[in-house]
Amino acid sequence: MIKLETRDLSYSYHAGQAILSNISLEINEGTITVLLGLNGSGKTTLIKVLTGLLRPLKRTTFIESKDITQISPVALSKFISYVPQNISDDTDFAVLDYLTFGRMNTIKFYSSPKSEDYKRAKAVAEELGITDLLTEKMNELSGGQRQLVTIARAVVQDSGIIIMDEPTASIDYKFLNIVIRYIYKLKQQGKTIVLSCHNPSIPLLLNADVVVLERGKVKMTGKAREVLTLQTLCDIYGCDFIASSQLPYEEASLLPIER
Ligand code: ADP
Repeated sequence: MIKLETRDLSYSYHAGQAILSNISLEINEGTITVLLGLNGSGKTTLIKVLTGLLRPLKRTTFIESKDITQISPVALSKFISYVPQNISDDTDFAVLDYLTFGRMNTIKFYSSPKSEDYKRAKAVAEELGITDLLTEKMNELSGGQRQLVTIARAVVQDSGIIIMDEPTASIDYKFLNIVIRYIYKLKQQGKTIVLSCHNPSIPLLLNADVVVLERGKVKMTGKAREVLTLQTLCDIYGCDFIASSQLPYEEASLLPIER
């Protein structure tokens, strides 16, 4: 089933300056789609349109064939959870409480989270290996720790689609491994994942679909392991790449999740 779709999507922040042009994408349920492209190519803008934060003039974004602009915020939060790129560090909520914010779409107005909400939050924290952070305050975490907590909060929300803007940007190698494997596990559970990143190894490891943006247009789409050849990587990033088979040593890198 097509879960998320754009039809001839264009977007401008200022009249006459198109940031996204004529983007048509079909994202199937239970897949991982990785947005690649140079800085300024439009990845964050596309993510904000897909999450409903930015609204193009025309109706161009659809979730399960429903126009996103016709879905109420509460209903939308049951479809999509969003991990933004810049996570605010000015809240002193404890991590466990922050995680239960992901349940807000199920908690009645003026009510508090219930024991099952805390249970769900703790279960996700355990899956991501961050239970030791549960009693910490959000504004006392490192950027990478905050990023992990925000990924966990998105999962706690229990939406079918999870959209993440550079979720691996500031996490260390240990947690990069954990997050990549976790994203793959979410896909296996049937979640539809869209994420942007700067590391082309990530879609290759995840055996994901890729959408490569260039100046707001789709330059290339397809299975990462089919389209991300050394040649296309050079075309996208404008520099030479070395295949690991050409290296004079055994490269220490993450292993593909699926061979
Ligand atoms: P990426 O995520 O690929 O780095 P962005 O979507 O952040 O790309 O940016 C694409 C273009 O849109 C850039 O030229 C950027 O300067 C511009 N842009 C991003 N946000 C705004 C904004 N709020 N107002 C005006 N222009 C913006």
